Amino acid sequence: MEFITKSANQTQDLGQRLGASLIGGEVFALEGDLGSGKTTFIQGLAKGAGITQRVISPTFIVMRQYSLPKFTFYHVDLYRLEGDLNKEIENLGLKNMIGGNNSVMVIEWAERIKELLPRQTKWIKFENLGEDKRKIIYETQN
Ligand code: ADP
Ligand code: MG
Repeated sequence: MEFITKSANQTQDLGQRLGASLIGGEVFALEGDLGSGKTTFIQGLAKGAGITQRVISPTFIVMRQYSLPKFTFYHVDLYRLEGDLNKEIENLGLKNMIGGNNSVMVIEWAERIKELLPRQTKWIKFENLGEDKRKIIYETQN
């Protein structure tokens, strides 16, 4: 599925609609350049899932988590991770959380750990089309 949004709000709305349908166990892998709208989309996703706190990018701390009655929402940003990614991911304990029914994982720069992600991972690609235009492509693997 492919969408074109013309404002940050439209991207958030798209995320919000998807967020309202989460049940736990989902893994979302987000790809796209800086400023392409990944975090903006996740803000909507979180809102739709029922998170009332403001979601800010976890770029410098790699991961933030938000507890909800049905699952914990994990927002991961791998942009700043360097060196031995496998080791870093192990330190984060990411492998144990991914795909569990009690968690929803949303990962920015997920292509960096592609081989660690389960088959059911839903890939979402973001492209900056200039000014406020963004293309958002949902892919479901397999
Ligand atoms: P990323 O996480 O991919 O680096 P962000 O969501 O942090 O991107 O930043 C996107 C930036 O682009 C924000 O400043 C946002 O306000 C702006 N923007 C403009 N138009 C859009 C749009 N259609 N969708 C998403 N963000 C947009
Ligand atoms: Mg971001």
